[in-house]
Amino acid sequence: SAKVVIIGAGIVGVNVADELQSRGWTDITIVEQGPLAMPGGSTSHAPGLVFQTNPSKNMSLFAKYTVEKMLSLTKDGVPCFNQVGGLEIATTPARLEDLKRRYGYAKSWGIPAELISAEACLEAYPLLNKELVLGGLKTPTDGLALAASAVQALIEKTRAAGAVYMESTPVTGIEKLNGRVTGVITPDTTIAANIVISCAGFWGVEIGKMVGLPVPLLPMAHQYVKTTTVSSQVGKNELPNGATLPILRYQDQDLYYREHGSQYGIGYYGHRPLPFSAASLPATSKDVSEHDMPSRLEFTKEDFDSAWQLSQELLPALKDAEIADGFNGIFSFTPDGGPLVGQAPNLDGFYVAEAVWVTHSAGVARALAEVLTTGHSSIDLADCELCRFEDVQLTSSYVSETSQQNFVEVYDILHPLQPKDSPRNLRVSPFYVRQKELGAFFLEGGAWERPYWFEENRKLLDELPDEWKPVDRDDWSARYYSPIAAAEAWKTRTSVAMYDMTPLRRLEVSGPGAATLLDRLTTGSVTRKPGAITYTLLLNDNGGVRSDITVARLEDELYQVGVNGPVDTAYFTREARIQSKLEPCKFVQIRDVTGGTCCVGLWGPKARDVISLATTDDFSDKALKYFRVKRANIAGVPVVAMRLSYVGELGWEIYASADNGVRLWDALWKAGQSHGIIAGGRSAFNALRLEKGFRSWGADMTTEHDPFEAGLDFAVKADKKPHVGQAALQGRSKDTCTRRLRCLTVDDGKSMAMGKEPVFVNGEAAGYVTSAAFGYTIRKPIIYAYLPAAVEDGAGVEVEYFGKRIAATVTPEPVYDPTMARLRG
Ligand code: FAD
Repeated sequence: SAKVVIIGAGIVGVNVADELQSRGWTDITIVEQGPLAMPGGSTSHAPGLVFQTNPSKNMSLFAKYTVEKMLSLTKDGVPCFNQVGGLEIATTPARLEDLKRRYGYAKSWGIPAELISAEACLEAYPLLNKELVLGGLKTPTDGLALAASAVQALIEKTRAAGAVYMESTPVTGIEKLNGRVTGVITPDTTIAANIVISCAGFWGVEIGKMVGLPVPLLPMAHQYVKTTTVSSQVGKNELPNGATLPILRYQDQDLYYREHGSQYGIGYYGHRPLPFSAASLPATSKDVSEHDMPSRLEFTKEDFDSAWQLSQELLPALKDAEIADGFNGIFSFTPDGGPLVGQAPNLDGFYVAEAVWVTHSAGVARALAEVLTTGHSSIDLADCELCRFEDVQLTSSYVSETSQQNFVEVYDILHPLQPKDSPRNLRVSPFYVRQKELGAFFLEGGAWERPYWFEENRKLLDELPDEWKPVDRDDWSARYYSPIAAAEAWKTRTSVAMYDMTPLRRLEVSGPGAATLLDRLTTGSVTRKPGAITYTLLLNDNGGVRSDITVARLEDELYQVGVNGPVDTAYFTREARIQSKLEPCKFVQIRDVTGGTCCVGLWGPKARDVISLATTDDFSDKALKYFRVKRANIAGVPVVAMRLSYVGELGWEIYASADNGVRLWDALWKAGQSHGIIAGGRSAFNALRLEKGFRSWGADMTTEHDPFEAGLDFAVKADKKPHVGQAALQGRSKDTCTRRLRCLTVDDGKSMAMGKEPVFVNGEAAGYVTSAAFGYTIRKPIIYAYLPAAVEDGAGVEVEYFGKRIAATVTPEPVYDPTMARLRG
C-alpha cells in the first residue's frame, strides 16, 4: 500500500494530506522544518485574498473548490473563509474593457459575476475615490481565506484520522533505488516511503536539488503592509482581522486591499522584482513568530512609497492613517505563472505541488490526490504539469528572467498572443535565416521562434480576389495579426505554400518493444506494416484525451511519433522504462529528435508540381498515398516524407536532419518559383486547420473530454487489443455524450472571438470557445465550442466578446472539403 511522506505543512501540504485521507489513504507522514503552530512559510503570513476568476479554466475551478472547502472548515468555531465578495475596479478605459473580458471568463467557468457601473462600485465600496473609478467587476463568492487557521484546522482533522506530523524536522535528503523513491532523510531518521510529495513552497528548488530535479520556480519578495487604525473603519469589523468590505483589486496600479479589523492591508506588485534564494536561509528556528519567520524579509520602504500615495488617492480615508507594519514576503513565481504539479520525470513516486497560491491550494491538492489514488484528475492538469517546460526553459537564467517578468506583469492586460520581449531567439529552425529574409513576424511558443506571417507576402494583397479580401477587425483581435494572413491562406488553397513545422515535437520510438508500447498506449492501429501513418489518441484511465499524436512506422522496430509537448515525452519515456524493465525482450527506447531535425509542410494544389521539379523520386498518389510515409531524396537531401496536411491540401510533411535544412528549403523554394510558391505563417495555418475541423490539443480537447465529446471517435479502433483508457470507453458513444465540441460560424461574417469566451444557448451560458479564427475560404469567422449535446445543427447561439453578444450558427463540420477530395488529390 502507499506509504506517503509529504514535505511541508503549509496550506498545500495539509490539503494534500486531507484529500488523500478522504480518498482512503491512511499511511501519511508530514514532515515540517518549522514549528507546526506557525511553520514560517508563505502561508504563515498570507493575507488570503481569493479572487477566483482567471483566464485559465482550471485555475478558476481550483479556486472555486478552495472556496467551497474553506467555507466548510472551522477553527475554534470560526469559519476559515470570510465570503465578503470581490471587487476589481477600472480606472482606465483599457481596464474597463479588460473587465468585460474577465466577466466573460467568469461566465465561461461558472463563477457568479457582475459588471457594475462607477456608481455601483461606490455603493459596494464607499471608501473609493469617485473621481478615479470608471466601473468594476463584482464577484460575490470571492473572499478571504483564513489560511493559517485553515492549516491548523486541517492539521487537527488529518491527525485525528491518523496522519503523523513531525515538526521542526528538516528534510535533508531523499532516498531512492532503481529510479524509485524509497524514503525521506531527516537529521535523526530515515522515513520509508514509496510516495513522496514535495509541498515545500518556495524551498521547492532546494528539495528538487536533492533528487536532481530542476524545479522551475523563483522565490520573490512581494510587499504587504498593514496601516494603523483608519478612523472611518472603527467599530465596523471584528478585531483584529475581521472584514466586511469586498476584497479590492486596483490592477491599474498593481495594488490590492483588504480590511484587518479597523486597519487596512495593502499588497503591492508595482515594485522592482526582488528575487531571492531559499538556499541563503538559515535553518528554521523553533521559535517562529509573526514578525520573525523565514518567509518574511525586512520591509524596503522606498519600494512602497508610491504605493502608499496611490492608495491614499484611491481610498482617501487612508489619509489619516500611517503604515504600521510592512514586510517583504516571499513566495514562488514560475516562467508561465502556473503552479508546478505532478510526478518528477526522473524519479518514480516523487511528486511536487509547489508555486501554488492559497487561492488554488485545495483544488490543486484534490487534483493531485485524484491522480495518486485513481490515476487521473477530474480537472485537466496540463497548465500545471511539472514537466510542461522545454529543457531550455528549465535553466536557472530562463526561470529567473521569465518569472521576474511574470511578477512585473501579474496585473497587466495581456493579449493571448502577446510574446515575451525576452528571452527570445532561444530555439530557431534551420529555416530561420530564410524566414528573416522574407520579413517573418515571429511569435514565441515552446521557446521556438515561429513565423506568424511574412511581410514579403504583403504585395499579394493587391492581387487578392474580392472573395478573399480580409474584413476589418476590432482593435483587440487585430493585435498580433496582419491581413497578409488572408493572402497566405489564399495562396495555400489555390497554389502552393511552405510552412515551417519544425517546432512540432517528434520522438523516435525504437527497439523490439516499440510496436507493443505504442499499441498499448494508443487507440489506433499502429502495428500495421512500415509505411503506415496513424492519427491516434493517448487516453488516460478515464478515457480522457491526454494527447493526439501521429504515429509513422518507418521500419519494423522504428517509429517517428509526432506529439504535443514535453508532457507527452515524459509519459512515453516513463512507460518505455517500465515496459523495458518488466519485459527486457520488449525493450523500447524513446529519443526526442525535434532539435536535430526540421520539417517543411509543402501544401497546396500545386504541391506535386513543385516537388517533382526538386526530386526524381516518385511522389505520385500511387507511390505515396494519403497517410503513408517513405524515405526519399530531395535535391540530394535525405528526407522522410509523410503524406499529411494539417491545412487540408495535397502535400507532405518533409523531414530532414537540421544540418540539411537550409538546402531542403532552398531546393523547394527554387522549384516552387514557377508556381508562385510562398512561405506561410501560423496565422494562416491556424485558420486553415480550423476550416478543416482539425483539433488542437490543449484548446479543443484535454483529459476532461473523451473522444466522443471531442469528435475524435474516428481515431478509436473498436476491435483492438486492450489499450490504456479502453475499459473506460465501454458503453460510451456519441449518443451518451452530454456535451460535444461543435463548429459555429459567425452570422455577420466579421465579428471575431479569440478563445475562452462564453457561449450562450437560449440566453444561458452553456459552453465556452476553445478555438477561433477567421475562415478565409468561407469568409466567416469560425468558432469551436463545447455545447450541450442536445443543441442541433442550425441552432442560433451567441458568443459574448467584450460584453457584446455575437450571433453564430451551429454548423456541420468541417466547413471546408468535407469529402477530403483535396487531401486525397
Ligand atoms: P508554504 O506555506 O511556504 O509551505 C511550505 C512549507 O514547507 C513551509 O512551512 C516550510 O517550512 C516547509 N519546508 C520547506 N522545506 C522543507 C524541508 N526541507 N523540510 C521540511 N519542511 C520544509 N496567495 C493567495 O492566494 N492570496 C493572497 O492574497 C496572497 N497574498 C500573499 C501575500 C504575500 C505577502 C505573500 C508573500 C504571498 C501571498 N500569497 C497569496 C501566496 C501564498 O501565500 C502562497 O502561494 C502559499 O501560501 C504557498 O503555500 P505552500 O503550502 O505551497 O507554501
